[in-house]
Amino acid sequence: MTRRETGQRRSEDHPLFGDLPFVEVSYALPDGRGGTFWERDLEYRPPVPPEAVPGDIEKQEFCSWCHPPHYYYVDEPKWCVECRKRFVFSAEEQKFWFEELKFNFHSIAIRCQECRRSQRRGKATKIQLQEASRVVEEHPDDASSLVTYAEAIHAHYSEFREGKLDTGLAAARRALTLAPELHEARFWEAALQELAGRPAKARQAYELFLQESEPVGRCRTLREQALGQLGHDAVVEPAS
Ligand SMILES: [Zn+2]
Repeated sequence: MTRRETGQRRSEDHPLFGDLPFVEVSYALPDGRGGTFWERDLEYRPPVPPEAVPGDIEKQEFCSWCHPPHYYYVDEPKWCVECRKRFVFSAEEQKFWFEELKFNFHSIAIRCQECRRSQRRGKATKIQLQEASRVVEEHPDDASSLVTYAEAIHAHYSEFREGKLDTGLAAARRALTLAPELHEARFWEAALQELAGRPAKARQAYELFLQESEPVGRCRTLREQALGQLGHDAVVEPAS
């Protein structure tokens, strides 16, 4: 196919970049057919307003038939579809999306940063639970994997108010049977009882955990949490 510019130009108004030029190209096929089409003038660069963040077109991946390049970026006010609050899809963030993450140009931010973060956290919690469940299936007698599973069920339930609390409880108890010195398991038993709406059993397990565990390593933080759950007046000394 041979092609050449006919010299005809037209422009299309763009809400952010203003008039964007197109050039007419004529083409001829070897069989004698031919015609003309309009093509975006890729050499064109509009002036960048002082408050805008300049775009680096080389780093952008897009179809020039559908979109102009991001010549520059400006802060865009938006409404979050999740929390319905107003947020700003900032120029820097847009540049990061389209030039570093190489998002396609149809991508637009519909959630505020806070909602996007909690969405990511939610996904991470789900992945952790899947992973913990898979490990327990493969190693049903590994006490620390059972504890991780109980903890993952707790995290998932705390976030989404759904999950198999009794499976988590069974995992924590089985861990204690297999490894009685794994005091963390007692903590998760207590925490899961609490989520299951059994405060007396939760309290009992928290107290047992505080008696059995030492304030070292992971148990140190968990002991603080247990004390918090039991109330400030609770003072439980570790068994000597
Ligand atoms: Zn939001």
